[in-house]
Amino acid sequence: MVDEEWPTGVRRSSHLFFSRYQVPRAHRNPPRDRGLRDARRHRQGFCRRHRGTAQEICDDQGWAFRGFHEFVRVSEGNEGLAYPRALNALTVRKIIHIDMDAFYASVEQRDDPQLRGKPVVVAWRGSRSVVCAASYEARQFGVRSAMPAVRAERLCLNAVFLAPDFPRYRAVSRQVREIFMRHTDLIEPLSLDEAYLDVTENKTGLLTATQVARTIREQIRAELNLTASAGVAPNKFLAKIASDWRKPDGLFVIQPEDVDPFLLPLPVGRLPGVGRVMEEKLKGFDVEIVADLRRMELATLEGRFGRYGVRLYELARGIDKSEVVPDRPTQSISAEDTFERDVLLTEMEPMIRRLAEHTWAASRKESRIARTVVLKLKTSDFKILTRSQTPPSPPSSCEELTRIALSLRERVGLNPRQRFRLVGVGLSNFRDREDASVQPALFT
Ligand SMILES: [Mg+2]
Repeated sequence: MVDEEWPTGVRRSSHLFFSRYQVPRAHRNPPRDRGLRDARRHRQGFCRRHRGTAQEICDDQGWAFRGFHEFVRVSEGNEGLAYPRALNALTVRKIIHIDMDAFYASVEQRDDPQLRGKPVVVAWRGSRSVVCAASYEARQFGVRSAMPAVRAERLCLNAVFLAPDFPRYRAVSRQVREIFMRHTDLIEPLSLDEAYLDVTENKTGLLTATQVARTIREQIRAELNLTASAGVAPNKFLAKIASDWRKPDGLFVIQPEDVDPFLLPLPVGRLPGVGRVMEEKLKGFDVEIVADLRRMELATLEGRFGRYGVRLYELARGIDKSEVVPDRPTQSISAEDTFERDVLLTEMEPMIRRLAEHTWAASRKESRIARTVVLKLKTSDFKILTRSQTPPSPPSSCEELTRIALSLRERVGLNPRQRFRLVGVGLSNFRDREDASVQPALFT
């Protein structure tokens, strides 16, 4: 798990090979009666490099499992044979997750030398506002992102509070993106300060993903005077955990063969999608770390947690097939709430106001702006209806969004005594800033 180089492999090959095919420890030295039972065991044999059993890997590649040394490509009429060696050439990807350190606060500290070394909290003033970012100095006092600003104030009395300046952060984020683009086109931004990069093939000819990550970090530091942490791994979820591992200003590499030693001792809470609730549920199965989770059968997990159970089964084996989707622009943002008891349209105002605030706050993190406001409702008998409005110029404040969302109630047109079980406030029809400002002019 050291910061070692990770050689570039051939990406596609017409043959299927295994390099590190491992029969599970319990199944080594099989008893004398070979045959069917062994075939079943080999099917379950785990390949460390590919983080899956022989059967899973074959399924994944569209091959039929025929026995320990025999894998047949189904798609080509079962004619090909291959031997278990170097399957990695087919499947190993190199993913980098880059996460800027305390991004908004760092930009503020960079641009105002007086703020350096001081606890800086980026948040709007107000009883209901939340912390957008906290400098590492402020974090020492326990201040964290997304905590109520009021609480942050109490924790750190001499913190410098600054209202967020998203246009400036967006501009810096674009500069960071330009650095990424020198290395790969496969960039999936998660927010202004985070992105996945697929560098299985990169544009600069650097030989390893580790070198690419190191170069990107150096370029961000030299050109933008900011620090970023990077994680390098064979898939997205591991890369994301890795970038957090040496934060701030760190680089951590999980090579394919290091996946198990890294993953198995981790608390399950580190897996994507495992929050407090899921953690508690898993505790009911005596699962606390990934190694415990791995002992659970697929059928049990699927039966208990449905599709997410299958995902858990894969995550526990370090498998994550999700692709880096370049620049998937946000189509819509929304927040919705189910009521404890069904309510009338006229009673919804406080909920709509609160949801509009959430939606608005989330939309501020987007580089593009939304033109359409959507009100979503679900009736007490589970009928979903939406009403939307596209004002001549995109909503420019939380108040405007709230006002439009509230007014959309008038267009529901149902019996005033109709009760609803859910309400949502959304923004959609996202456009680039330039387009959005030009667009209305076209029609006037
Ligand atoms: Mg960050």
